[in-house]
Amino acid sequence: MSVMDAVTITKPAGQPRTELSPKPSLIGLSREEMGNALRQRGVADKQVKMRVSQLWNWIYVRGISDFDQMVNIAKDMREMLKQHFTIARPEIVEEQVSNDGTRKWLLRFPPRGAGRPVEVETVYIPEEGRGTLCISSQVGCSLTCSFCHTGTQRLVRNLTAEEILSQLLLARDRLGDFPDRDIPLGAMVPSEGRKVSNIVMMGMGEPLYNFDAVKQALLIATDGDGLSLSKRRVTLSTSGVVPEIFRTGEEIGVMLAISLHAVRDDLRDILVPINKKYPLKELIEACRAYPGLSNARRITFEYVMLKDVNDSLEDAKGLIQLLKGVPAKINLIPFNPWPGTNYQCSDWAQIEKFADFINSAGYASPIRTPRGRDILAACGQLKSESERMRKTERLAFEAMMIANHGVDD
Ligand code: SF4
Repeated sequence: MSVMDAVTITKPAGQPRTELSPKPSLIGLSREEMGNALRQRGVADKQVKMRVSQLWNWIYVRGISDFDQMVNIAKDMREMLKQHFTIARPEIVEEQVSNDGTRKWLLRFPPRGAGRPVEVETVYIPEEGRGTLCISSQVGCSLTCSFCHTGTQRLVRNLTAEEILSQLLLARDRLGDFPDRDIPLGAMVPSEGRKVSNIVMMGMGEPLYNFDAVKQALLIATDGDGLSLSKRRVTLSTSGVVPEIFRTGEEIGVMLAISLHAVRDDLRDILVPINKKYPLKELIEACRAYPGLSNARRITFEYVMLKDVNDSLEDAKGLIQLLKGVPAKINLIPFNPWPGTNYQCSDWAQIEKFADFINSAGYASPIRTPRGRDILAACGQLKSESERMRKTERLAFEAMMIANHGVDD
């Protein structure tokens, strides 16, 4: 199969169109906020707790996106809910399935206030025994990491908690990952055996520049009475927003990943420019203080392999020195090219040498297999439709991928 065989479905059948003035969504509200929203619409105080618990179950356990399916809620209450609220999913502008099974969705969200509809990308990566959903936290990004495609798209706005969570709900819909809707009412659904078993906040944007919405969305995603993802299976990746790192551990309690990519400040200033504000010394100190850090709960350091830039054995040595004493795992990421970049991926032999060196120092250092490169779904390749490649650029890029990687089999 060639990269040209990736399947693209533009707007799958039955998907909603983006409403221009949507009603407020119940998705992404805390229980307290949902209760207040119901009270404002006349639900009696003594009923609120029960109604919130019913809605929570329908929305997050069963994945219902239509109030009419909530059969244990009286018809007049369902009418009131329909009139004032929504639980609809975002519009799917495009769904692509890579020849390695990776899926990428381009999603459109309605305008907020005076703004315009916005588009973001979400990626699902199936692996042996697990499936990881890579979720976006912002539309575009204000940081300009020089190896990252998203970094070339200006920041449009932060996503809301509803929009962050909707990416997970929509992926579960499309993957058939909500349980049979005939299960007994109120039944708990085990978190094991689901297609989306892990989530990573590693899509478009810097999650710690949108702390409150990310926190709210992740607390709902890990709520034991709802989506029930284990906090150990949720990873938040930051480029190094030092002042928010401690709060992340304390208030959200998920696993932490750092987009490291360089072990010297002069080089990291170029690859990850936020380093000029929060240099390596401060970043590593913040990592050491991360709540709950232990050998069983290590920090993942992401390291993109860029040919002749950061891939020497000197760099590997520097990496080991830098992380000394930090319970760490190092993910080596072969650079995923995108149109217009000047970087190249390190040679495979060099990546292996680098990995062996780190391994022999006692660090787990898996080389992350590139996934979904043919649909630009791999790490650092996301960029939404608002600024996407024109068709001619895409064809030229696909031709380059075939020439460089020999992906025909
Ligand atoms: S790597 Fe992350 S923080 Fe850096 S530009 Fe890309 S999306 Fe933004």
